[in-house]
Amino acid sequence: MLDTLRRIVQEVNNAPDIRSALDLMAQRVRDAMGTEVCSIYLRDNNEERYMLMASEGLKREAVGRVSLGTSEGLVGQVGLREEPINLEDAFSHPKFHYLAETGEDPFHAFLGVPVMHHGEVLGVLVVQQRDARRFDQSEEAFLVTISAQLSAVIAHAHASGVLFDQLDTQDLPSIHDGQPGSTGAAIGIGVLLFPETDLSAVPDRDATDISGEIALLDEALVRVRQEIRDLAERAKKTLGPEEQALFDVYLRMLDRQALPAEVVARIREGQWAQGALRMVVDAHVHNFEMMDDPYLRERAADVRDLGRRVLGQLQSRNRRRIEFPKACILMGEDISAPMLMEMPEENIAGIVTTRGSRNSHMAIVARAMGIPTVVGAQNLPLKKLDGKELIVDGFRGRVIANASAELKAQFEDIIAEEKHLLAGLEKLRDEPAETEDGQRITLQVNTGLMTDIVRSIERGAEGVGLYRTEIPFMVRDRFPSEEEQRLIYREQLSAFAPHGVTMRTLDVGGDKPLSYFPIEEDNPFLGWRGIRLTLDHPEIFIVQVRAMLKAAEGLNNLRIMLPMVTSVIEAEEAQHLIHRAWLEVREEGVDVEMPPVGVMIEVPASVYQARALAQRVEFLSVGTNDLTQYLLAVDRNNRQVSELYNSCHPAVLHALLHVVEQAHEEGKPVSVCGEMAGDPSTALILMAMGFDSLSMNASNLLRVKAAVRQVNMTFLRRLLNEVLAMDNGEVIASYLDLQLTKVGLGDLVRHRKPT
Ligand code: PEP
Ligand code: MG
Repeated sequence: MLDTLRRIVQEVNNAPDIRSALDLMAQRVRDAMGTEVCSIYLRDNNEERYMLMASEGLKREAVGRVSLGTSEGLVGQVGLREEPINLEDAFSHPKFHYLAETGEDPFHAFLGVPVMHHGEVLGVLVVQQRDARRFDQSEEAFLVTISAQLSAVIAHAHASGVLFDQLDTQDLPSIHDGQPGSTGAAIGIGVLLFPETDLSAVPDRDATDISGEIALLDEALVRVRQEIRDLAERAKKTLGPEEQALFDVYLRMLDRQALPAEVVARIREGQWAQGALRMVVDAHVHNFEMMDDPYLRERAADVRDLGRRVLGQLQSRNRRRIEFPKACILMGEDISAPMLMEMPEENIAGIVTTRGSRNSHMAIVARAMGIPTVVGAQNLPLKKLDGKELIVDGFRGRVIANASAELKAQFEDIIAEEKHLLAGLEKLRDEPAETEDGQRITLQVNTGLMTDIVRSIERGAEGVGLYRTEIPFMVRDRFPSEEEQRLIYREQLSAFAPHGVTMRTLDVGGDKPLSYFPIEEDNPFLGWRGIRLTLDHPEIFIVQVRAMLKAAEGLNNLRIMLPMVTSVIEAEEAQHLIHRAWLEVREEGVDVEMPPVGVMIEVPASVYQARALAQRVEFLSVGTNDLTQYLLAVDRNNRQVSELYNSCHPAVLHALLHVVEQAHEEGKPVSVCGEMAGDPSTALILMAMGFDSLSMNASNLLRVKAAVRQVNMTFLRRLLNEVLAMDNGEVIASYLDLQLTKVGLGDLVRHRKPT
């Protein structure tokens, strides 16, 4: 059964379009279960009906025509109950609804299971049989399993909006839901960034120069053939003659008349070489995988391997040939922060990924750069959208393709309005962040990139509350030397002097990988990250601190902050190393004061140790991104649980209040440098709690300042008391937005909702 299941899923996933996928699904399920009918009804939410989309066994002409209301018939019942219905005789069920057009008269036995995705009913999968009989438990289990496996395919088609419009129309608007990664809207041309040597990620692209593409293929083939011959030569000593024959098989497949001839044919049809290669390899892999003979099935792996080798060669020639349109929307399954930094910033209008969530590092960097971003748009057909005009709605977390002229005009207005709002905020640059009744708060910026410096200064930042030093580490292919680090840190320190610059010691691990320092862990968020890693590698820690201290010479505006601290032992050990580094550089003649050292409160343990930590260090800063993740046990990058990630959760708010109180009991300043500080509504609540400073992305600073300047502390304290008495995070978040909208801050806090 498992084998059959695997094969059906594979076949369906390989289908060229959704229509064929559904047809295949119906055929294969019917064959596998030996029933007379298998039908797929999908829910059309606009029409509130289940439409018969594919059937093996019912009349062909009924497909695409017959539909049932959402509470009509047995199909409606399966959807309403969200569970299987298994009937010996469907005709005698009170909810049976006879559909003459389908020709279902002779079928008595009925088994229907819902197709569910993320808790939503997308459709109903039905099998029917002439004889009256109850399907047995294993049949029911098979259908439920296949429905669960295939729900993703259906969800994809659902989300791309192609289901209920003529299925192959590509010109209809399609809206794809994801999550807001960075607010703002953008219009531009999709450019797919795909991992190299991953054949399945290669998009379709039109060949601009057909003979050029064929020449590229030929060159790649010459090199791959040589590569195989070299391998064969090397393997001579270790392999027997039988295994040696494998290399001949490879070489035969690479013969100009074999696979390459098919690739050339595709190129001549207008496809670029990489896309043509993918198509041909996919087709062969698919055929081999369908074979029952296990030996032949294994050949699929060989073709795939050859495909990867040829692709590798093609890409080594094609590298850096991506052309960036003036306004491009970068698309990818996962775009890492370093990948983003390699792109020409002036051309990036927006970013879209199918994985990740708003707390992933790339999203943080995108917010710092002020680029509208949508993350986790799971069902986005990336390959199809390459080169197409797209709208990124970073307010609501949607991507729109093939937008109508009206919709596009609506977004053009929004983009213009945003620009206008920002221009209006610019006059606040030199005004204090002060409430109407004179309460001040320090507004600082989070930095990491050099470009952040200019943006921050333009917006009047009062120093840096979090300089993420891992970013310069992430964009390199080795650890930067002490001198390289000193130069980078010096730029930050001198740009903001005399304001303080809070430099966080290296915070890698978890979701922040260094390509040249791989860490393999089953559970990286609970593993070797932040201070744990650097305390185990004092040589990395000390070099970094020495570079910071040297960079601060003559400026003395350096503050050092420790990430992911869970105990006083870690804080003390780090302080000891910092002190040692300070003595060393002083001895070497560097005239620098011992900088204040602080810790980040990012894990529940440190919330409850806040007082003990505050006694030992000069300041505390709450990293609400990680704190929310660890308090709520919600992975900040996992889209599946992203709706549970809520910094307005009462547990988070009460923890924050506790930290402020404990720090102040010890007379130590405390700030917030997580994303909460940059959202005007939560920033105001943090201010009401008594945080001394807030540190955020430069692009949010003026919005937060504008919000602070339009409220008074009496109002904020009342609002804080109200939300602290509430027990539901979602209600708190909407209540805050509502109350702030009522006092005229709608423009600043509202998540824009264009229709
Ligand atoms: C945080 O966790 O809130 C934080 C500021 O650190 P990072 O987002 O870099 O993990
Ligand atoms: Mg953190």
